[in-house]
Amino acid sequence: MAQILDGKVHADRILEQVAIAVQARVSKGVRPPCLAVVLVGEDPASQVYVRGKVADCARTGIRSIERRPTADLSQSELNAIIDELNADPEVDGILVQLPLPKGLNSKEALHRIDPAKDVDGFHPMNQGLLLEGLPALRPCTPTACMNMLEAHGVDLKGKRAVVLGRSEIVGKPMALMLLEKHATVTIAHSRTVDLPGVCREADILVAAVGQPGLVEGSWIKPGAIVIDVGINRVEDPALAQRIFAKDPKKQATFAAKGAATCGDVRTAEAMEVASAVTPVPGGVGLLTRAGLMLNTVQAWESRTSV
Ligand code: NAD
Repeated sequence: MAQILDGKVHADRILEQVAIAVQARVSKGVRPPCLAVVLVGEDPASQVYVRGKVADCARTGIRSIERRPTADLSQSELNAIIDELNADPEVDGILVQLPLPKGLNSKEALHRIDPAKDVDGFHPMNQGLLLEGLPALRPCTPTACMNMLEAHGVDLKGKRAVVLGRSEIVGKPMALMLLEKHATVTIAHSRTVDLPGVCREADILVAAVGQPGLVEGSWIKPGAIVIDVGINRVEDPALAQRIFAKDPKKQATFAAKGAATCGDVRTAEAMEVASAVTPVPGGVGLLTRAGLMLNTVQAWESRTSV
């Protein structure tokens, strides 16, 4: 039976370190760090994510401010909010919560954020620095996956890593970070031929596709480490029956609530084959949030002096 890689333990440790780092500089007279969150519209999942991030700020001594315009906001109005936050000397980090409502161009918004305040690490300047292996504000989710692997003493040198998904915010930067640690990396995606066969080559399998339970136990190499990035809500009973067939806990949740949250991997099946698996929820997501606090402090430290 595989080991469960618990994200909460590591996230708590990182948040404690962040709180200490903040307190140390604030006690020397530096103003506290400040994260600005822009949440456009009323998307329920986004509201939950933002609530979590604001709570992490409170816990670590980071000041948070929120801008919550309605979904009918125009692109130029959104740009104006970003410009105002860019110009505010007291704001260290700016986060535009994705996805944006239809009609708004997320790339245009993300490219407008001052790279020095880009705590999500999505600006092309920061992505380019990552590509070159230079210090930058790096995307929180792939960083969280790397932190998870490091915390469990995984040596990536020479290992075969497969990243499932090629998005700019997870898949591509994930592949670069694994490469930086000398893994041999394959990026697989929706057009990959023989996805199960490619996944079976992986010593480290990172799934970031947003497809509930796509990765079956038979796709996993015995002894592999499986990092499940996906966060999906399942409401379809037929799908739930299929992907939770070996997972009595998820079945019970689904039966009680008519829905369940799961990753891209069939966790219970993976547990029978892999050596370690991250759960959903309770895995990468919590570490991603902690990574946002680390990035905010990094931005603050480079923008303020003791
Ligand atoms: P995305 O939609 O931008 O990208 C998905 C990628 O998966 C694409 O590259 C696509 O080619 C690939 N893909 C889609 N269907 C596929 C299939 N059937 N077979 C193979 N490849 C397929 O998504 P994203 O923003 O990268 O997010 C991926 C998942 O990770 C989502 O579930 C999202 O909610 C989750 N996520 C979690 C965190 C976290 O903190 N844990 C952070 C960001 C995203």
